[in-house]
Amino acid sequence: MKPVVGIDLGTTHSLVAYRKEDGTVEVLRDREGRALLPSVVALSPDGVSVGWGARELINNPKTTVVYAAKRLMGRSFEETAAERAHLSYPVIDKNGSPAIPDPERGRTLTPPEIGALILSNLRSRAEEALGCAVADAVITVPAYFNDAQRQATKDAGALAGLNVLRIINEPTAAALAYGLGEKKDGLFAVFDLGGGTFDFSLLEIRKGIFEVRATSGDTHLGGEDFDRAILTEWLESDPGLAAKAERPEVKDILRKEAERAKIALSKTSEVTVRLPSLEFSTTLTRARLDTLVAPFVSRAFHAVRSAMQDSGIEPQAVDGVILVGGSTRFLRFREAVAEFFGKPLLDSVDPDLVVAEGAAVQADILSGRRKDLLLLDVTPLSLGIETIGGVTSTLIPRNTTIPAQAKELFTTYVDGQVNVDIHVLQGEREMAADNRSLGRFTLSGIPPLPAGAPRIEVTFQIDANGILEVSAREQTTGQRANVVIHPSYGLAKEDVRELLKEAFSHAKEDFELRLLVDSRTEAQTVINATARALATVGSDILDERERQAIEAQTKILRTAMEGNDGKKVRDEIRTLDRLTQPLAERLVNHSLTEALSGKHLPEIPPEGGSHA
Ligand code: AMP
Repeated sequence: MKPVVGIDLGTTHSLVAYRKEDGTVEVLRDREGRALLPSVVALSPDGVSVGWGARELINNPKTTVVYAAKRLMGRSFEETAAERAHLSYPVIDKNGSPAIPDPERGRTLTPPEIGALILSNLRSRAEEALGCAVADAVITVPAYFNDAQRQATKDAGALAGLNVLRIINEPTAAALAYGLGEKKDGLFAVFDLGGGTFDFSLLEIRKGIFEVRATSGDTHLGGEDFDRAILTEWLESDPGLAAKAERPEVKDILRKEAERAKIALSKTSEVTVRLPSLEFSTTLTRARLDTLVAPFVSRAFHAVRSAMQDSGIEPQAVDGVILVGGSTRFLRFREAVAEFFGKPLLDSVDPDLVVAEGAAVQADILSGRRKDLLLLDVTPLSLGIETIGGVTSTLIPRNTTIPAQAKELFTTYVDGQVNVDIHVLQGEREMAADNRSLGRFTLSGIPPLPAGAPRIEVTFQIDANGILEVSAREQTTGQRANVVIHPSYGLAKEDVRELLKEAFSHAKEDFELRLLVDSRTEAQTVINATARALATVGSDILDERERQAIEAQTKILRTAMEGNDGKKVRDEIRTLDRLTQPLAERLVNHSLTEALSGKHLPEIPPEGGSHA
């Protein structure tokens, strides 16, 4: 049987693991016996290197050392502005996407290509360790990764010659490594604190189904901040040392020393640092370190509280907390987590290896050897399309378990409309313009019928990897849209949080605006249908008095539409409806009644202008 490996493609480190026939999981090591591979690629005049060797070249002026490329994965150049400010290597705009110049080889590399170099290295490692060809893999991503970020990760796998069977969430993988879902159900918190990022997720596991109930975190919080806090304290206490640390090599030595002291303090309560060459010596106590780190603990728990509030779940309801990432060895954090949840910590699996091990468990399940576990995740934000008036019509609500599918019928707004614009949106806001545009396409070839007559079925499909496909089909002709959803560039988790927060704070005004826009749309539809009906019926169906009353009410409705009072518009529609009721009853005209209800899709604007 072909092996399927599990890969943790991390921001700072990556790993590959495999579950053996006997059920035990092994993290595959390099020739030197190292499990971790730094997620670093060096582009130097001598060639391209990956991992430990690449990391050593960081101060080499002739070499571009690319690290943390995961932060750029699947995002547009524009969206990576804040991230780029933290990176020391050049990133250029290549057709709207970030790319790293490799002048030696006269090319630029995109984040998926950098990812592919790391994955290729892990693939070779796996082939050597297992003694056979390896192609099939499961790769993990943060739970907040959106469609484009997942797709970019998949692309990286494909570029590395891997057949990516599934992209799974890191917290889900961590839970699998603990045998959750296989052996045990419940509600688990996953506290993932690494070198530079903090991710918190709340995972519900029922009958082998995994659901991410909430996520939060801080994309710039981790062990490196603690090292920096120690370093700052040393430099502030010793001006002579600060002067020496102007040199990058000296600063590097001090930073490594700070990290060493920090790590030592998870075993002892006091550590002495002696650097005779720099004429520096000091003592750091655990108590002092805890004080230095206190602001970071608060920041992390701020994110934890927000996720718990979001989910409406009390900390006491959590059955256990899984620790992921090297910095969860930090005692102060462990205490804070235990205190907050009042529950035992799951920490028996090495926090650096736990995600890769879980990916290997999932890989094993997908290899077909075990058929007893189903894995599901959820959508972080709602997905829908824009309908007339620029409002959002949601097809898949946020937190829907994936894979998911939704279908809904839409119709046209204008008589004889032969095409519709399908604009795919992500977000919680009522108005399309406030949500994120994931892509758009046109369904053309609709038969020219009265407004409201065509039946256009829009289907959203999200596969197990969280990748979205949208299609549209006109039912009478069977005409289908040529569906091309251009990749949605990434949403960082704070963006998701920000969008949710915004949606929440604007909920009331959004709701009112939407009511107004919907009322105006409905009014226009009613007016059009009424005018069409009036034009086609004679005095045998409608007498003059009735006709005049309808016309007068149409005028009143038009005036109401120009105002901003949605309730007034709706009241006038109701009055017009009452007046046209006898007419509608007399005219058993299907297309008319349909035009009086239904959801309408925008037409393509002639000059590519706005259709709203
Ligand atoms: P990761 O990104 O998950 O590999 O985590 C790496 C981070 O964990 C680095 O910042 C390390 O300094 C930190 N780390 C490793 N061991 C310990 C420890 N015993 N105490 C505190 N931090 C640690």
